[in-house]
Amino acid sequence: MCTGIVFDIKEFAIQDGPGIRTTVFLKGCPLRCPWCHNPEGLSPEPETLHGAAGDRIVGKRFTAEELATYLNRQVPLLVRNGGGITFSGGEPLRQAEFVVAVCRQLLPVHILLDTSGYSSAADFHRVLAVVHHVYFDLKLMDPEAHRRVVGVELAPILANLAQLAASDLPYTVRIPLVPGLTDTAANLERIADHLACLPRLPVVHLLPYNRAAGGKYTACGRTFRPDWDEDQAVTPDLNLFSSRHLEAILV
Ligand code: SF4
Repeated sequence: MCTGIVFDIKEFAIQDGPGIRTTVFLKGCPLRCPWCHNPEGLSPEPETLHGAAGDRIVGKRFTAEELATYLNRQVPLLVRNGGGITFSGGEPLRQAEFVVAVCRQLLPVHILLDTSGYSSAADFHRVLAVVHHVYFDLKLMDPEAHRRVVGVELAPILANLAQLAASDLPYTVRIPLVPGLTDTAANLERIADHLACLPRLPVVHLLPYNRAAGGKYTACGRTFRPDWDEDQAVTPDLNLFSSRHLEAILV
């Protein structure tokens, strides 16, 4: 029986793709972005959060059938509102088999994958076959900085991005803007250069820095240590993208 661990299900989400959506947050992520605003999604196992209102467990195991049955009850409403279901995390590709099994049991509905792109090419290929749109994050384009800051190699991410661009799936590249880290002109220019060479150009979403990122760390026993200036305004130069025929939106 195929099972997976979910740490949240957000209903009536309006920022996780087109229309009104239900977003499923899958637990476990191999990256360690120091700005991550879902630290309770990092560990693949259920864990106890120690909040002001007391302790609670985050992370619930579902069978694929259980989760699909739960989501299917919402599908008519989501379809009527031009929305659908988004798989996010954590990193949903870490539970690729589960995501595929759930998607295969869903009623007809728009499905979006929100991913860091970090997985084997085979897992990415399997998930691409069952979704309709991909939000694909890019953070740092210098391989050494990528390894040092987020803790994994950049190469498999770029290989999966190439696989996505060679498919016919709509996709959006999303860049979290972290002051002095990912928002530098040099990093954004390198990203734009890379995207401009892909066989299909994506739309680019630039995501403003989320100052609430540190809020949940204490509750899950982690420490939030930003070594950037959280007060520094992020002012990306959109011309870096438009001059390369890329549509970039500050969302
Ligand atoms: S990829 Fe996303 S979930 Fe994973 S550590 Fe980075 S911000 Fe957090």
